[in-house]
Amino acid sequence: LNKSYPGRRNEPSVEVIRQLNLQINDGEFLVLVGPSGCGKSTLLRLLAGLEAPTSGEIYVGKQPVSQLRPAQRDVAMVFQNYALYPHLSVRDNLVFGLRRSQQRSLGQLLQDQLHRKTRNFPPLLQVSSIREQRIERRTREVAEALELQPLLNRQPKELSGGQKQRVALGRAMAREPSVFLMDEPLSNLDAKLRNSTRTQIVDLQRQLGTTTIYVTHDQVEAMTMGHRIAVLNQGQLQQLGTPIELYQWPSNLFVAQFIGSPP
Ligand code: ATP
Ligand code: MG
Repeated sequence: LNKSYPGRRNEPSVEVIRQLNLQINDGEFLVLVGPSGCGKSTLLRLLAGLEAPTSGEIYVGKQPVSQLRPAQRDVAMVFQNYALYPHLSVRDNLVFGLRRSQQRSLGQLLQDQLHRKTRNFPPLLQVSSIREQRIERRTREVAEALELQPLLNRQPKELSGGQKQRVALGRAMAREPSVFLMDEPLSNLDAKLRNSTRTQIVDLQRQLGTTTIYVTHDQVEAMTMGHRIAVLNQGQLQQLGTPIELYQWPSNLFVAQFIGSPP
């Protein structure tokens, strides 16, 4: 995979991702680390299909991402700057992705209804109310898990940075996507909340088995959260391995210094 941005005026173009080759396993929690500006957020945007690579292709299973419509991508991203909808309450921010992601299951429900009708079964509950009930339940579960209940009726501008970040996390979790992309989702939380939210994310990931790519600067997060760590520097993959492998056998000095291996 390669990604470059055209340079301004006479400046050369900026190569942000260079010759990257990476395979992420189904159900894996992969932590992506590297210094500021090395291309982490860019890589997540490429994986989400929000931007196109300059060359190369991303596959989900056997399917090239470039051939999927946005609605087929089934990816939820938590952005570094939250990207909440400023005009919606916390509750509606949580619900927003759900309404969209439930369209497929709604189609399923309609088919069931039709099936029952043709066989003279009594109709199920009104489709819309079943869907609303599901959304209501899921919103409640996520709000509870992230301690957001007292904030549900507020607007984003009435929240602290850490609270906004939890809402952004909740919105992604509520959708139950196939792939989670998280860009430093804990960077604005205080130490106590960071610890508890870190545990929640790991528990949830293990429970749901959702393939997760998690970007962080934090060495402790890198060493404790993921199954494997990918170290990126200047757009190039330096090493990919389990925390123990990287700690014991760093492939170069950069990895050793970044991971904090003993000399
Ligand atoms: P941080 O840890 O600070 O968030 P990062 O690893 O996420 O950094 P990116 O945001 O991916 O880094 O940026 C990688 C490089 O690409 C940077 O040098 C940045 O200036 C450049 N870059 C990112 N987006 C664009 C763009 N739209 N146009 C031009 N250059 C860009
Ligand atoms: Mg970034």
